[in-house]
Amino acid sequence: MSENPQSEAGRTALQVACDTEVSGCVFRMRTEEDDRDRLLQITRDHVAEQHGKEYSLEEIDERHVTEVPVETGGGS
Ligand SMILES: [Zn+2]
Repeated sequence: MSENPQSEAGRTALQVACDTEVSGCVFRMRTEEDDRDRLLQITRDHVAEQHGKEYSLEEIDERHVTEVPVETGGGS
């Protein structure tokens, strides 16, 4: 369960970080926009299992997910 290197399409990716309320928890994941639903569900499961909190998918979407640009290849 790690990143898929095959999804470097040079566009926007989604990143979720669960380090808002609980310090010490670093849960980061990146996925393509197409996988948004899956990312939200995985995050919800993580929060429920690790922190015993129930968040709706919408809450996670708004508060935990950020869109990040995908950098393909280095360049300086
Ligand atoms: Zn967490």
